[in-house]
Amino acid sequence: MLMPPFELHHPKSVDEAVALAAQLMEAGEGFDWVAGGTDVLPNYKWRINTKPHVISLAGIPEANSISSTSIGCTVTLDALIQSDESHPLLVEAASKIASSLIRKSATVGGNLCLDTRCFWYNQSEDWRRSIDWCHKADCGTGADCRVIPNQNTLCVATYQGDLAPNFMALEASVVLVGPAGERTMPLTEFFELDGMKKNVLTPGEFLLRVELPEAASARVGAYQKLRVRESWDFPEAGVAASWVPGDIDSLRVASTALESIPKLHDAEVSAHLKANDRTVDVKALAQAVQKSVKPVNNTALPPAYRRKMVRVLTKRALTALGDLR
Ligand SMILES: Cc1cc2nc3c(=O)[nH]c(=O)nc-3n(C[C@H](O)[C@H](O)[C@H](O)COP(=O)(O)OP(=O)(O)OC[C@H]3O[C@@H](n4cnc5c(N)ncnc54)[C@H](O)[C@@H]3O)c2cc1C
Ligand code: SF4
Repeated sequence: MLMPPFELHHPKSVDEAVALAAQLMEAGEGFDWVAGGTDVLPNYKWRINTKPHVISLAGIPEANSISSTSIGCTVTLDALIQSDESHPLLVEAASKIASSLIRKSATVGGNLCLDTRCFWYNQSEDWRRSIDWCHKADCGTGADCRVIPNQNTLCVATYQGDLAPNFMALEASVVLVGPAGERTMPLTEFFELDGMKKNVLTPGEFLLRVELPEAASARVGAYQKLRVRESWDFPEAGVAASWVPGDIDSLRVASTALESIPKLHDAEVSAHLKANDRTVDVKALAQAVQKSVKPVNNTALPPAYRRKMVRVLTKRALTALGDLR
């Protein structure tokens, strides 16, 4: 599969990257950010939403630092796993992503900004042409969504990143930077329920780093992932859970690979604690989490099975946290 032509830019600082993006926008030129390239470049080879310019974040030193409370966007998954500063839950989750070779290039920022996936979309150009395209990459034809037809507005492609629910369980925030300056928000507010828009990033803006509260180091956590092949597949469902031992109000449960966005199940957890006199009935809470997700038919495994497995994964993740009292 040949790479389509594009101009690759190598800014050396955050300011240079933002200025370059602003310049391209003013000239009306399309561009993508690239970090490790393990997601965006395969998509380019399949001629999926390619752009004439690609801006690499790899040469920005500020984006490549790691501490227990701050992780730069270009820190690789391998570096995250190897670092003594990393929270054990992030090490566990990152170790379950793709393969050891891919993890050497794949980055934390690229994982959080991962394109949503769908089996009508992550296909070669010829394959997509043979079904007359789909709404997310319609090649100017106005093609409909193949998963939920007759609506032509919404894309329900699935977000299949593994790190997001784990960062959510650790109460992470993200720092975004762009032509309008810098802003910080909880990771739970970063994603947008539309498989095309994906997140709140505005044109020219990128995710600079992830921040964790100091208190995250007191949390213990567990991540459970369902995938077809253990060797390298994307999650078909994923559930992360964490708490500060002894503090039941700190319990957080989050899921991924079930909808267009990863989700923190704070409503289900607080309703459960309230109804159960501040104790956890693992089976009942797992059922509540299962009830709250609505996978659609666009990944390798059937939605009904993925939904059933959410209960199992949640039970396993909660049980791994120890005595929840
Ligand atoms: C065979 C295979 C298996 C995989 N398995 C998994 C898996 O099990 N779990 C999983 O989560 N992922 C998996 N992936 C996807 C991917 O490798 C990882 O998600 C990786 O972390 C993406 O990071 P990257 O730096 O390579 O992203 P890139 O490809 O560089 O970028 C990904 C997307 O994010 C955007 N982007 C990158 N960095 C930023 C930033 N800082 N700010 C704003 N936008 C940005 C890019 O424009 C692009 O749209 C797999 C990939 C392959 C090829
Ligand atoms: S969910 Fe619909 S619009 Fe989105 S990629 Fe799949 S078929 Fe295309």
